[in-house]
Amino acid sequence: MGRLQNEVITEFRSKVRGEVLLPGDEGYDAARKIWNAMIDRKPGLIVRCAGVADVMRSVRLARDQGLLVSVRGAGHNIAGNAVCDDGLMIDLSAMKSVHVNPETRRAYVESGATLADFDHEAQAFGLATPLGINSTTGVAGLTLGGGFGWLTRKYGMSVDNLVSVDVITAEGKRVRANAQENPDLFWAIRGGGGNFGVVTLFEFQLHPVGPEVFCGVIVFPFTQAKALLLKYREFVDQASEDLNVWSVLRQAPPLPFLPSEVHGKLVVLFPFVYAGDMEAGKRAIAPLRGFGQPHGEHVGLQPYTSWQKTFDPLLTAGVRNYWKSHNLSELREGAIDSIVEYTAKIPSPQGEIFIGLVSGQANRVSKEATAYVQRDAKFVLNVHSRWEKPEDDKRCIAWAREFFNKTAPYATGGVYVNFLTQDEADRIKAAYGANYDRLVQLKSKYDPENLFRLNQNIKPAS
Ligand SMILES: Cc1cc2nc3c(=O)[nH]c(=O)nc-3n(C[C@H](O)[C@H](O)[C@H](O)COP(=O)(O)OP(=O)(O)OC[C@H]3O[C@@H](n4cnc5c(N)ncnc54)[C@H](O)[C@@H]3O)c2cc1C
Repeated sequence: MGRLQNEVITEFRSKVRGEVLLPGDEGYDAARKIWNAMIDRKPGLIVRCAGVADVMRSVRLARDQGLLVSVRGAGHNIAGNAVCDDGLMIDLSAMKSVHVNPETRRAYVESGATLADFDHEAQAFGLATPLGINSTTGVAGLTLGGGFGWLTRKYGMSVDNLVSVDVITAEGKRVRANAQENPDLFWAIRGGGGNFGVVTLFEFQLHPVGPEVFCGVIVFPFTQAKALLLKYREFVDQASEDLNVWSVLRQAPPLPFLPSEVHGKLVVLFPFVYAGDMEAGKRAIAPLRGFGQPHGEHVGLQPYTSWQKTFDPLLTAGVRNYWKSHNLSELREGAIDSIVEYTAKIPSPQGEIFIGLVSGQANRVSKEATAYVQRDAKFVLNVHSRWEKPEDDKRCIAWAREFFNKTAPYATGGVYVNFLTQDEADRIKAAYGANYDRLVQLKSKYDPENLFRLNQNIKPAS
């Protein structure tokens, strides 16, 4: 990057509407920070794009000057590929517009929008689409990997609700991709991560949800963990697809509905959302309430937008994180035993093991329909190691890796690409399974020089 001449930078600055930041500039350090504090990279140049023209210009600069390029949405990805050392960081986080058409039930979303931005606009019309469970996550990165959350059992993955995208290709050209136009690119985008270009606009199909939903969290003692998880797996097998229930095992946060003596103790949390009528929701969760003697619960009607922020305080930015993830087609007893064993050994107050329930509509779509291939994933089993101090890195990473290895025999072998860390390039093929070869062909067509390689990279055929 050092070799990029001043005239080139000056010329580039004059041609873009957004901010261009160099090391030492005010705002540079803030712009290079992302959610995971383990990532500390220093791009040679950051362009905070104001619109599509800036993105096109940035891609062309990277291509013409042979720069390493990274693309940042909301900067939530655990692997930290949104930031590069030395190269050009294309920062889309200022492009946050979300336009909703309530008549056609469509949302047009720019690539820097967070889930909170999306829900804010869509919920003004009582509409939503399946996205994640933490409102500060980016719509872009989440969707490009597949995307799942509370509404997935009922309405599928985020990519199953994607109607079209605008993409800036490696040539710096804008193309539209949907079922009619560039359908091969549209297929690849729906799960292929950032491999195929920079998406500047996402068009989603929306569904009536809320604006209030029946939801909440029921908290049980950790001492009952094994029995609870055995009941959980039976319960979710039978439960209506309007209902989604996840399991989280961790130290209890200081939730006001829990007795103070429980705060900081190990607990099992069952957060849930019922995407339907409240009375039906009450009936649906009755068995869950009867799993055992809970420490407490917070259950009722709540604005969907506020529910979507429930986990934000537990998943704040600026903390050190190391995550590992398995897909499971069933929750076997051996996995449950390891979950209980490793929860008892959580090395930090913020660490957790969670089981996300995917299933339902997400499992009914064929594996060939989209690049996202993990249609047999009923559960996503994640270990989230989170801690504050660098001196704890070794201990906290070791805990996550050990748990991951111990539970591998109970997993499908597949993995959700958005949960891969930066040291898991050897799992990319497994993340794409039978779709991998087709993705390589399409990468060779759309990005033969592998300009977009700072991602879970699908390499073009040489
Ligand atoms: C706390 C937390 C909670 C999460 N919860 C969920 C969840 O409930 N469901 C779920 O499905 N996932 C979840 N995830 C994973 C999440 O989907 C990924 O981290 C995702 O990559 C975040 O997107 P982003 O835009 O914020 O990330 P960024 O870090 O900005 O981007 C990640 C990568 O995506 C690519 N990219 C981003 N924007 C574009 C674009 N416009 N065009 C081309 N490529 C682009 C780039 O390769 C980039 O490196 C969670 C992650 C965290 C940290």
